[in-house]
Amino acid sequence: MRIQTLVGALALSTLMVACGEQTAPAQAAQPALTADANTLQSHLEFLASDALEGRDTGSRGHEIAAQYIVAKFKALGLEPAGDDGTYYQRVGFRRSTLKEGSAAFAIHTGESTVELAYGDAFLTGPSAYAATNEVTAPVVFVGYGLVSDEFGLNDYANVDVDGKIVVMVSGRPESLPSEEGAHLNSSKTRFAAERGAVGIITLHTPAREEVRPFKVSAMYQRAPSVTWLNPEGEPNVAYKNIQGAAYLDYRAAEPLFSNAAIRMDDVFAQLEKGDQPKPFELNVSVTLKRASEHEEISSPNVAAILPGSDPELKNEYVLYTAHSDHIGMTQDLSQDDHINNGAMDNASGVSVMLETARMFTEAAERPKRSILFLSITAEERGLLGADYFAHYPTVPLQSIVANVNLDMPVLLYDFADVIAFGSTHSTLGETVAAAAGKFDIALSDDPMPEQAIFTRSDHYPFVKKGVPAVFLMTGFTAKNEDEDGGKIWGEFFAEHYHRPSDAPTLPINYEAGVVFTNINFEIGQAIANDAERPRWLPDSFFANLD
Ligand SMILES: [Zn+2]
Repeated sequence: MRIQTLVGALALSTLMVACGEQTAPAQAAQPALTADANTLQSHLEFLASDALEGRDTGSRGHEIAAQYIVAKFKALGLEPAGDDGTYYQRVGFRRSTLKEGSAAFAIHTGESTVELAYGDAFLTGPSAYAATNEVTAPVVFVGYGLVSDEFGLNDYANVDVDGKIVVMVSGRPESLPSEEGAHLNSSKTRFAAERGAVGIITLHTPAREEVRPFKVSAMYQRAPSVTWLNPEGEPNVAYKNIQGAAYLDYRAAEPLFSNAAIRMDDVFAQLEKGDQPKPFELNVSVTLKRASEHEEISSPNVAAILPGSDPELKNEYVLYTAHSDHIGMTQDLSQDDHINNGAMDNASGVSVMLETARMFTEAAERPKRSILFLSITAEERGLLGADYFAHYPTVPLQSIVANVNLDMPVLLYDFADVIAFGSTHSTLGETVAAAAGKFDIALSDDPMPEQAIFTRSDHYPFVKKGVPAVFLMTGFTAKNEDEDGGKIWGEFFAEHYHRPSDAPTLPINYEAGVVFTNINFEIGQAIANDAERPRWLPDSFFANLD
């Protein structure tokens, strides 16, 4: 999973409201069919072992993890659903790095040219498609750079940005709901590119400085960026007209506003008041330059199908996803342990998926719809393996009726409730409540809506293609009075998330894993056997993404 900060999650745990809408479909009980704790443990301990060296995308350790998953799918008798009759969908990736000393940012005011210092005043990432970029163009201020009819936003109203560089402030108006806001935020490049912009400058604001200082962003600058390659070997860069992009510290941005009718401080004052600044011409031009180095790697998704039993419905699929990659070895040499084992993130989710697959193959009755199991690569690099599959699915995308995503179930306590991201957006909310209810587990509201987790894991590329999705997390209530679920979850996040200590040495509660697996199996079964496909709720923002 990719989470930035755990703002207030612990405090919010006390405010949670169990929603408890349980519709109880009285299916015949199948007491014998349950997930098995030992099996979950054996999968997890192998996938999170030191031998796999943190399963980084493109690494030998991740290849071995993929091979293990293939072996398990094969042993279960599942059909291969990758490329050319195999279980593998091999994905090419390009790793791009900014060439040392190549980034330049100059502001031309007409009277003078101000050169800014890379790392101190501005940051820029590498280009995924060009070895060198250089662009000089007039600059237009476009507020937050957002467009949405639904929320009455158009930061491009009455300005022409064709052939120009746009300057936008980071973030989004606080008035936007978090998930919808996160989606719009991730669409800023598209809004600019579709209007012909040739460069994007994102302005780091004083408000942003309080949350994430510019210096902290600068520390993460050197990391390479990764992009998937299409089957023709071209990088997935949708908007090649954007030739330059930079993140500019407000403390160095004054010269940009030197010829403008509105001062930068006035813009910040408007933001402070919750107003949305209007677009205006800055009457300066900017030169952005960079050089990038490229390296190509490949890494597999793994896909398998359990065919459905119904002659019609078997042509539709319930898609389970779990990412098998993690972040590899740590660069932090101050620690003795350099392997990020990724036990909870996401050996646990893959183990749950493998055990769910076993349960489907051993159920008394085959599900009516087919079940597609997909283990995904490059989640940690930006949901890339999932995005690739959503663009190049091995079954028709329209035939995927729902996605049940498994990412980082924190199996460290006897949870009494689950949180289901996406449950408020589609009919899957009812399905989840009913499935959890069978195991006396409540469905709780999202305790950290500000994280917009619905946009942060592998289901999201499918959501963007119109597939209803749900993604369960263990809730913050524990069954036993001597356990505080929210506290354990929060401590995991604060002390072990994306660190070498997220390892099988954690006090993993495999019985909690059994309950979590049983619920996720139940959800898939309900979807697979329901006469109707899951539907987006009509008033959900995600029902009508363009
Ligand atoms: Zn992660």
